[in-house]
Amino acid sequence: MKSIQSNIKKAKNYLDNNHCIAVPTETVYGLAGNAYSNDAIKKIFKLKKRPINNPLIVHYYNLDQLEKDCDLNDNFLKLYKKFSPGPITYILKLKKNSKISKFVTNNKKTLAVRFPKHNLFKILLKSLSYPLAAPSANLSSRLSSVKVSDVKDEFGKKIKFILDGGKSKIGVESTILSLLNRPSILRYGGLDVSKIEKVLNKKLLININTKIKISPGLFPLHYSPGIPLRINVKIPNKDEAYVLIKKRKVHFKNYYYLTKKRNLDKAAKNLYTILRKIKQDGFKKIAVEKIPNKGLGKTINDRLNRASKY
Ligand code: AMP
Ligand code: MG
Repeated sequence: MKSIQSNIKKAKNYLDNNHCIAVPTETVYGLAGNAYSNDAIKKIFKLKKRPINNPLIVHYYNLDQLEKDCDLNDNFLKLYKKFSPGPITYILKLKKNSKISKFVTNNKKTLAVRFPKHNLFKILLKSLSYPLAAPSANLSSRLSSVKVSDVKDEFGKKIKFILDGGKSKIGVESTILSLLNRPSILRYGGLDVSKIEKVLNKKLLININTKIKISPGLFPLHYSPGIPLRINVKIPNKDEAYVLIKKRKVHFKNYYYLTKKRNLDKAAKNLYTILRKIKQDGFKKIAVEKIPNKGLGKTINDRLNRASKY
């Protein structure tokens, strides 16, 4: 308990002084900074080598805090009740008098907002007088981090402080939903789209892979392990690591399993760890078998598709 408090205090101290630090979330680790501070936000973009036209998600502790920055609508309130805190990010309209740094949104009038569920991140947010912008803690276009060693793998000593919250429970990024006009999905993620459709009682527009760059994180080549990756592979080449959805009876040393028994939620949780391990094991190429395209399988396929653009 004592170490939790002292780590939160340290984290708060760095953030209050406009530094950015890595924080645990239930989706993936974030690289967090004061969303009201131009200095802090510029540091995030620089550390990640992220293009400035790729806006950040801002994390809030509660609705009172959010209301200072965004206009809330009925769809948002319905979904918030059901799914927040959790792995869903909403795109809302920014208020004119909001204090959000213009670097967060690349000067746009909309904001991506999320309420994280990880206990340490919640305690940290509660202790602050500002929300935290926190993109995934990885170099731009690379695999997100799901534990402290991944963050170190990405940034080495460049990061001042990592708040250790163990391994991320969900393991893939949040689902992004635009609530500006007709609700539309901008990114598949940790919350199954069909669950959102049930609450809103309508089919959602899927605005993914369109040429329109509504969401610059949706540029091709994202979530890449940094080596070539092929998808929907039935027979791998000898020099490829082969990723399979469930354990096979006959095992070869280049076989990597996402789960024991084809559980898609668990497969999503393990995805980035397995891809990182393959690279650390020295493979130069990856082949992945076809993954069922339902539930979080859609999120896995989205990430693999983008990684295959390497
Ligand atoms: P990351 O923080 O790395 O998980 O990426 C955040 C994603 O949210 C990126 O794909 C951004 O393009 C997307 N995003 C952030 N703000 C907005 C916004 N105002 N409108 C649409 N997409 C956004
Ligand atoms: Mg990211």
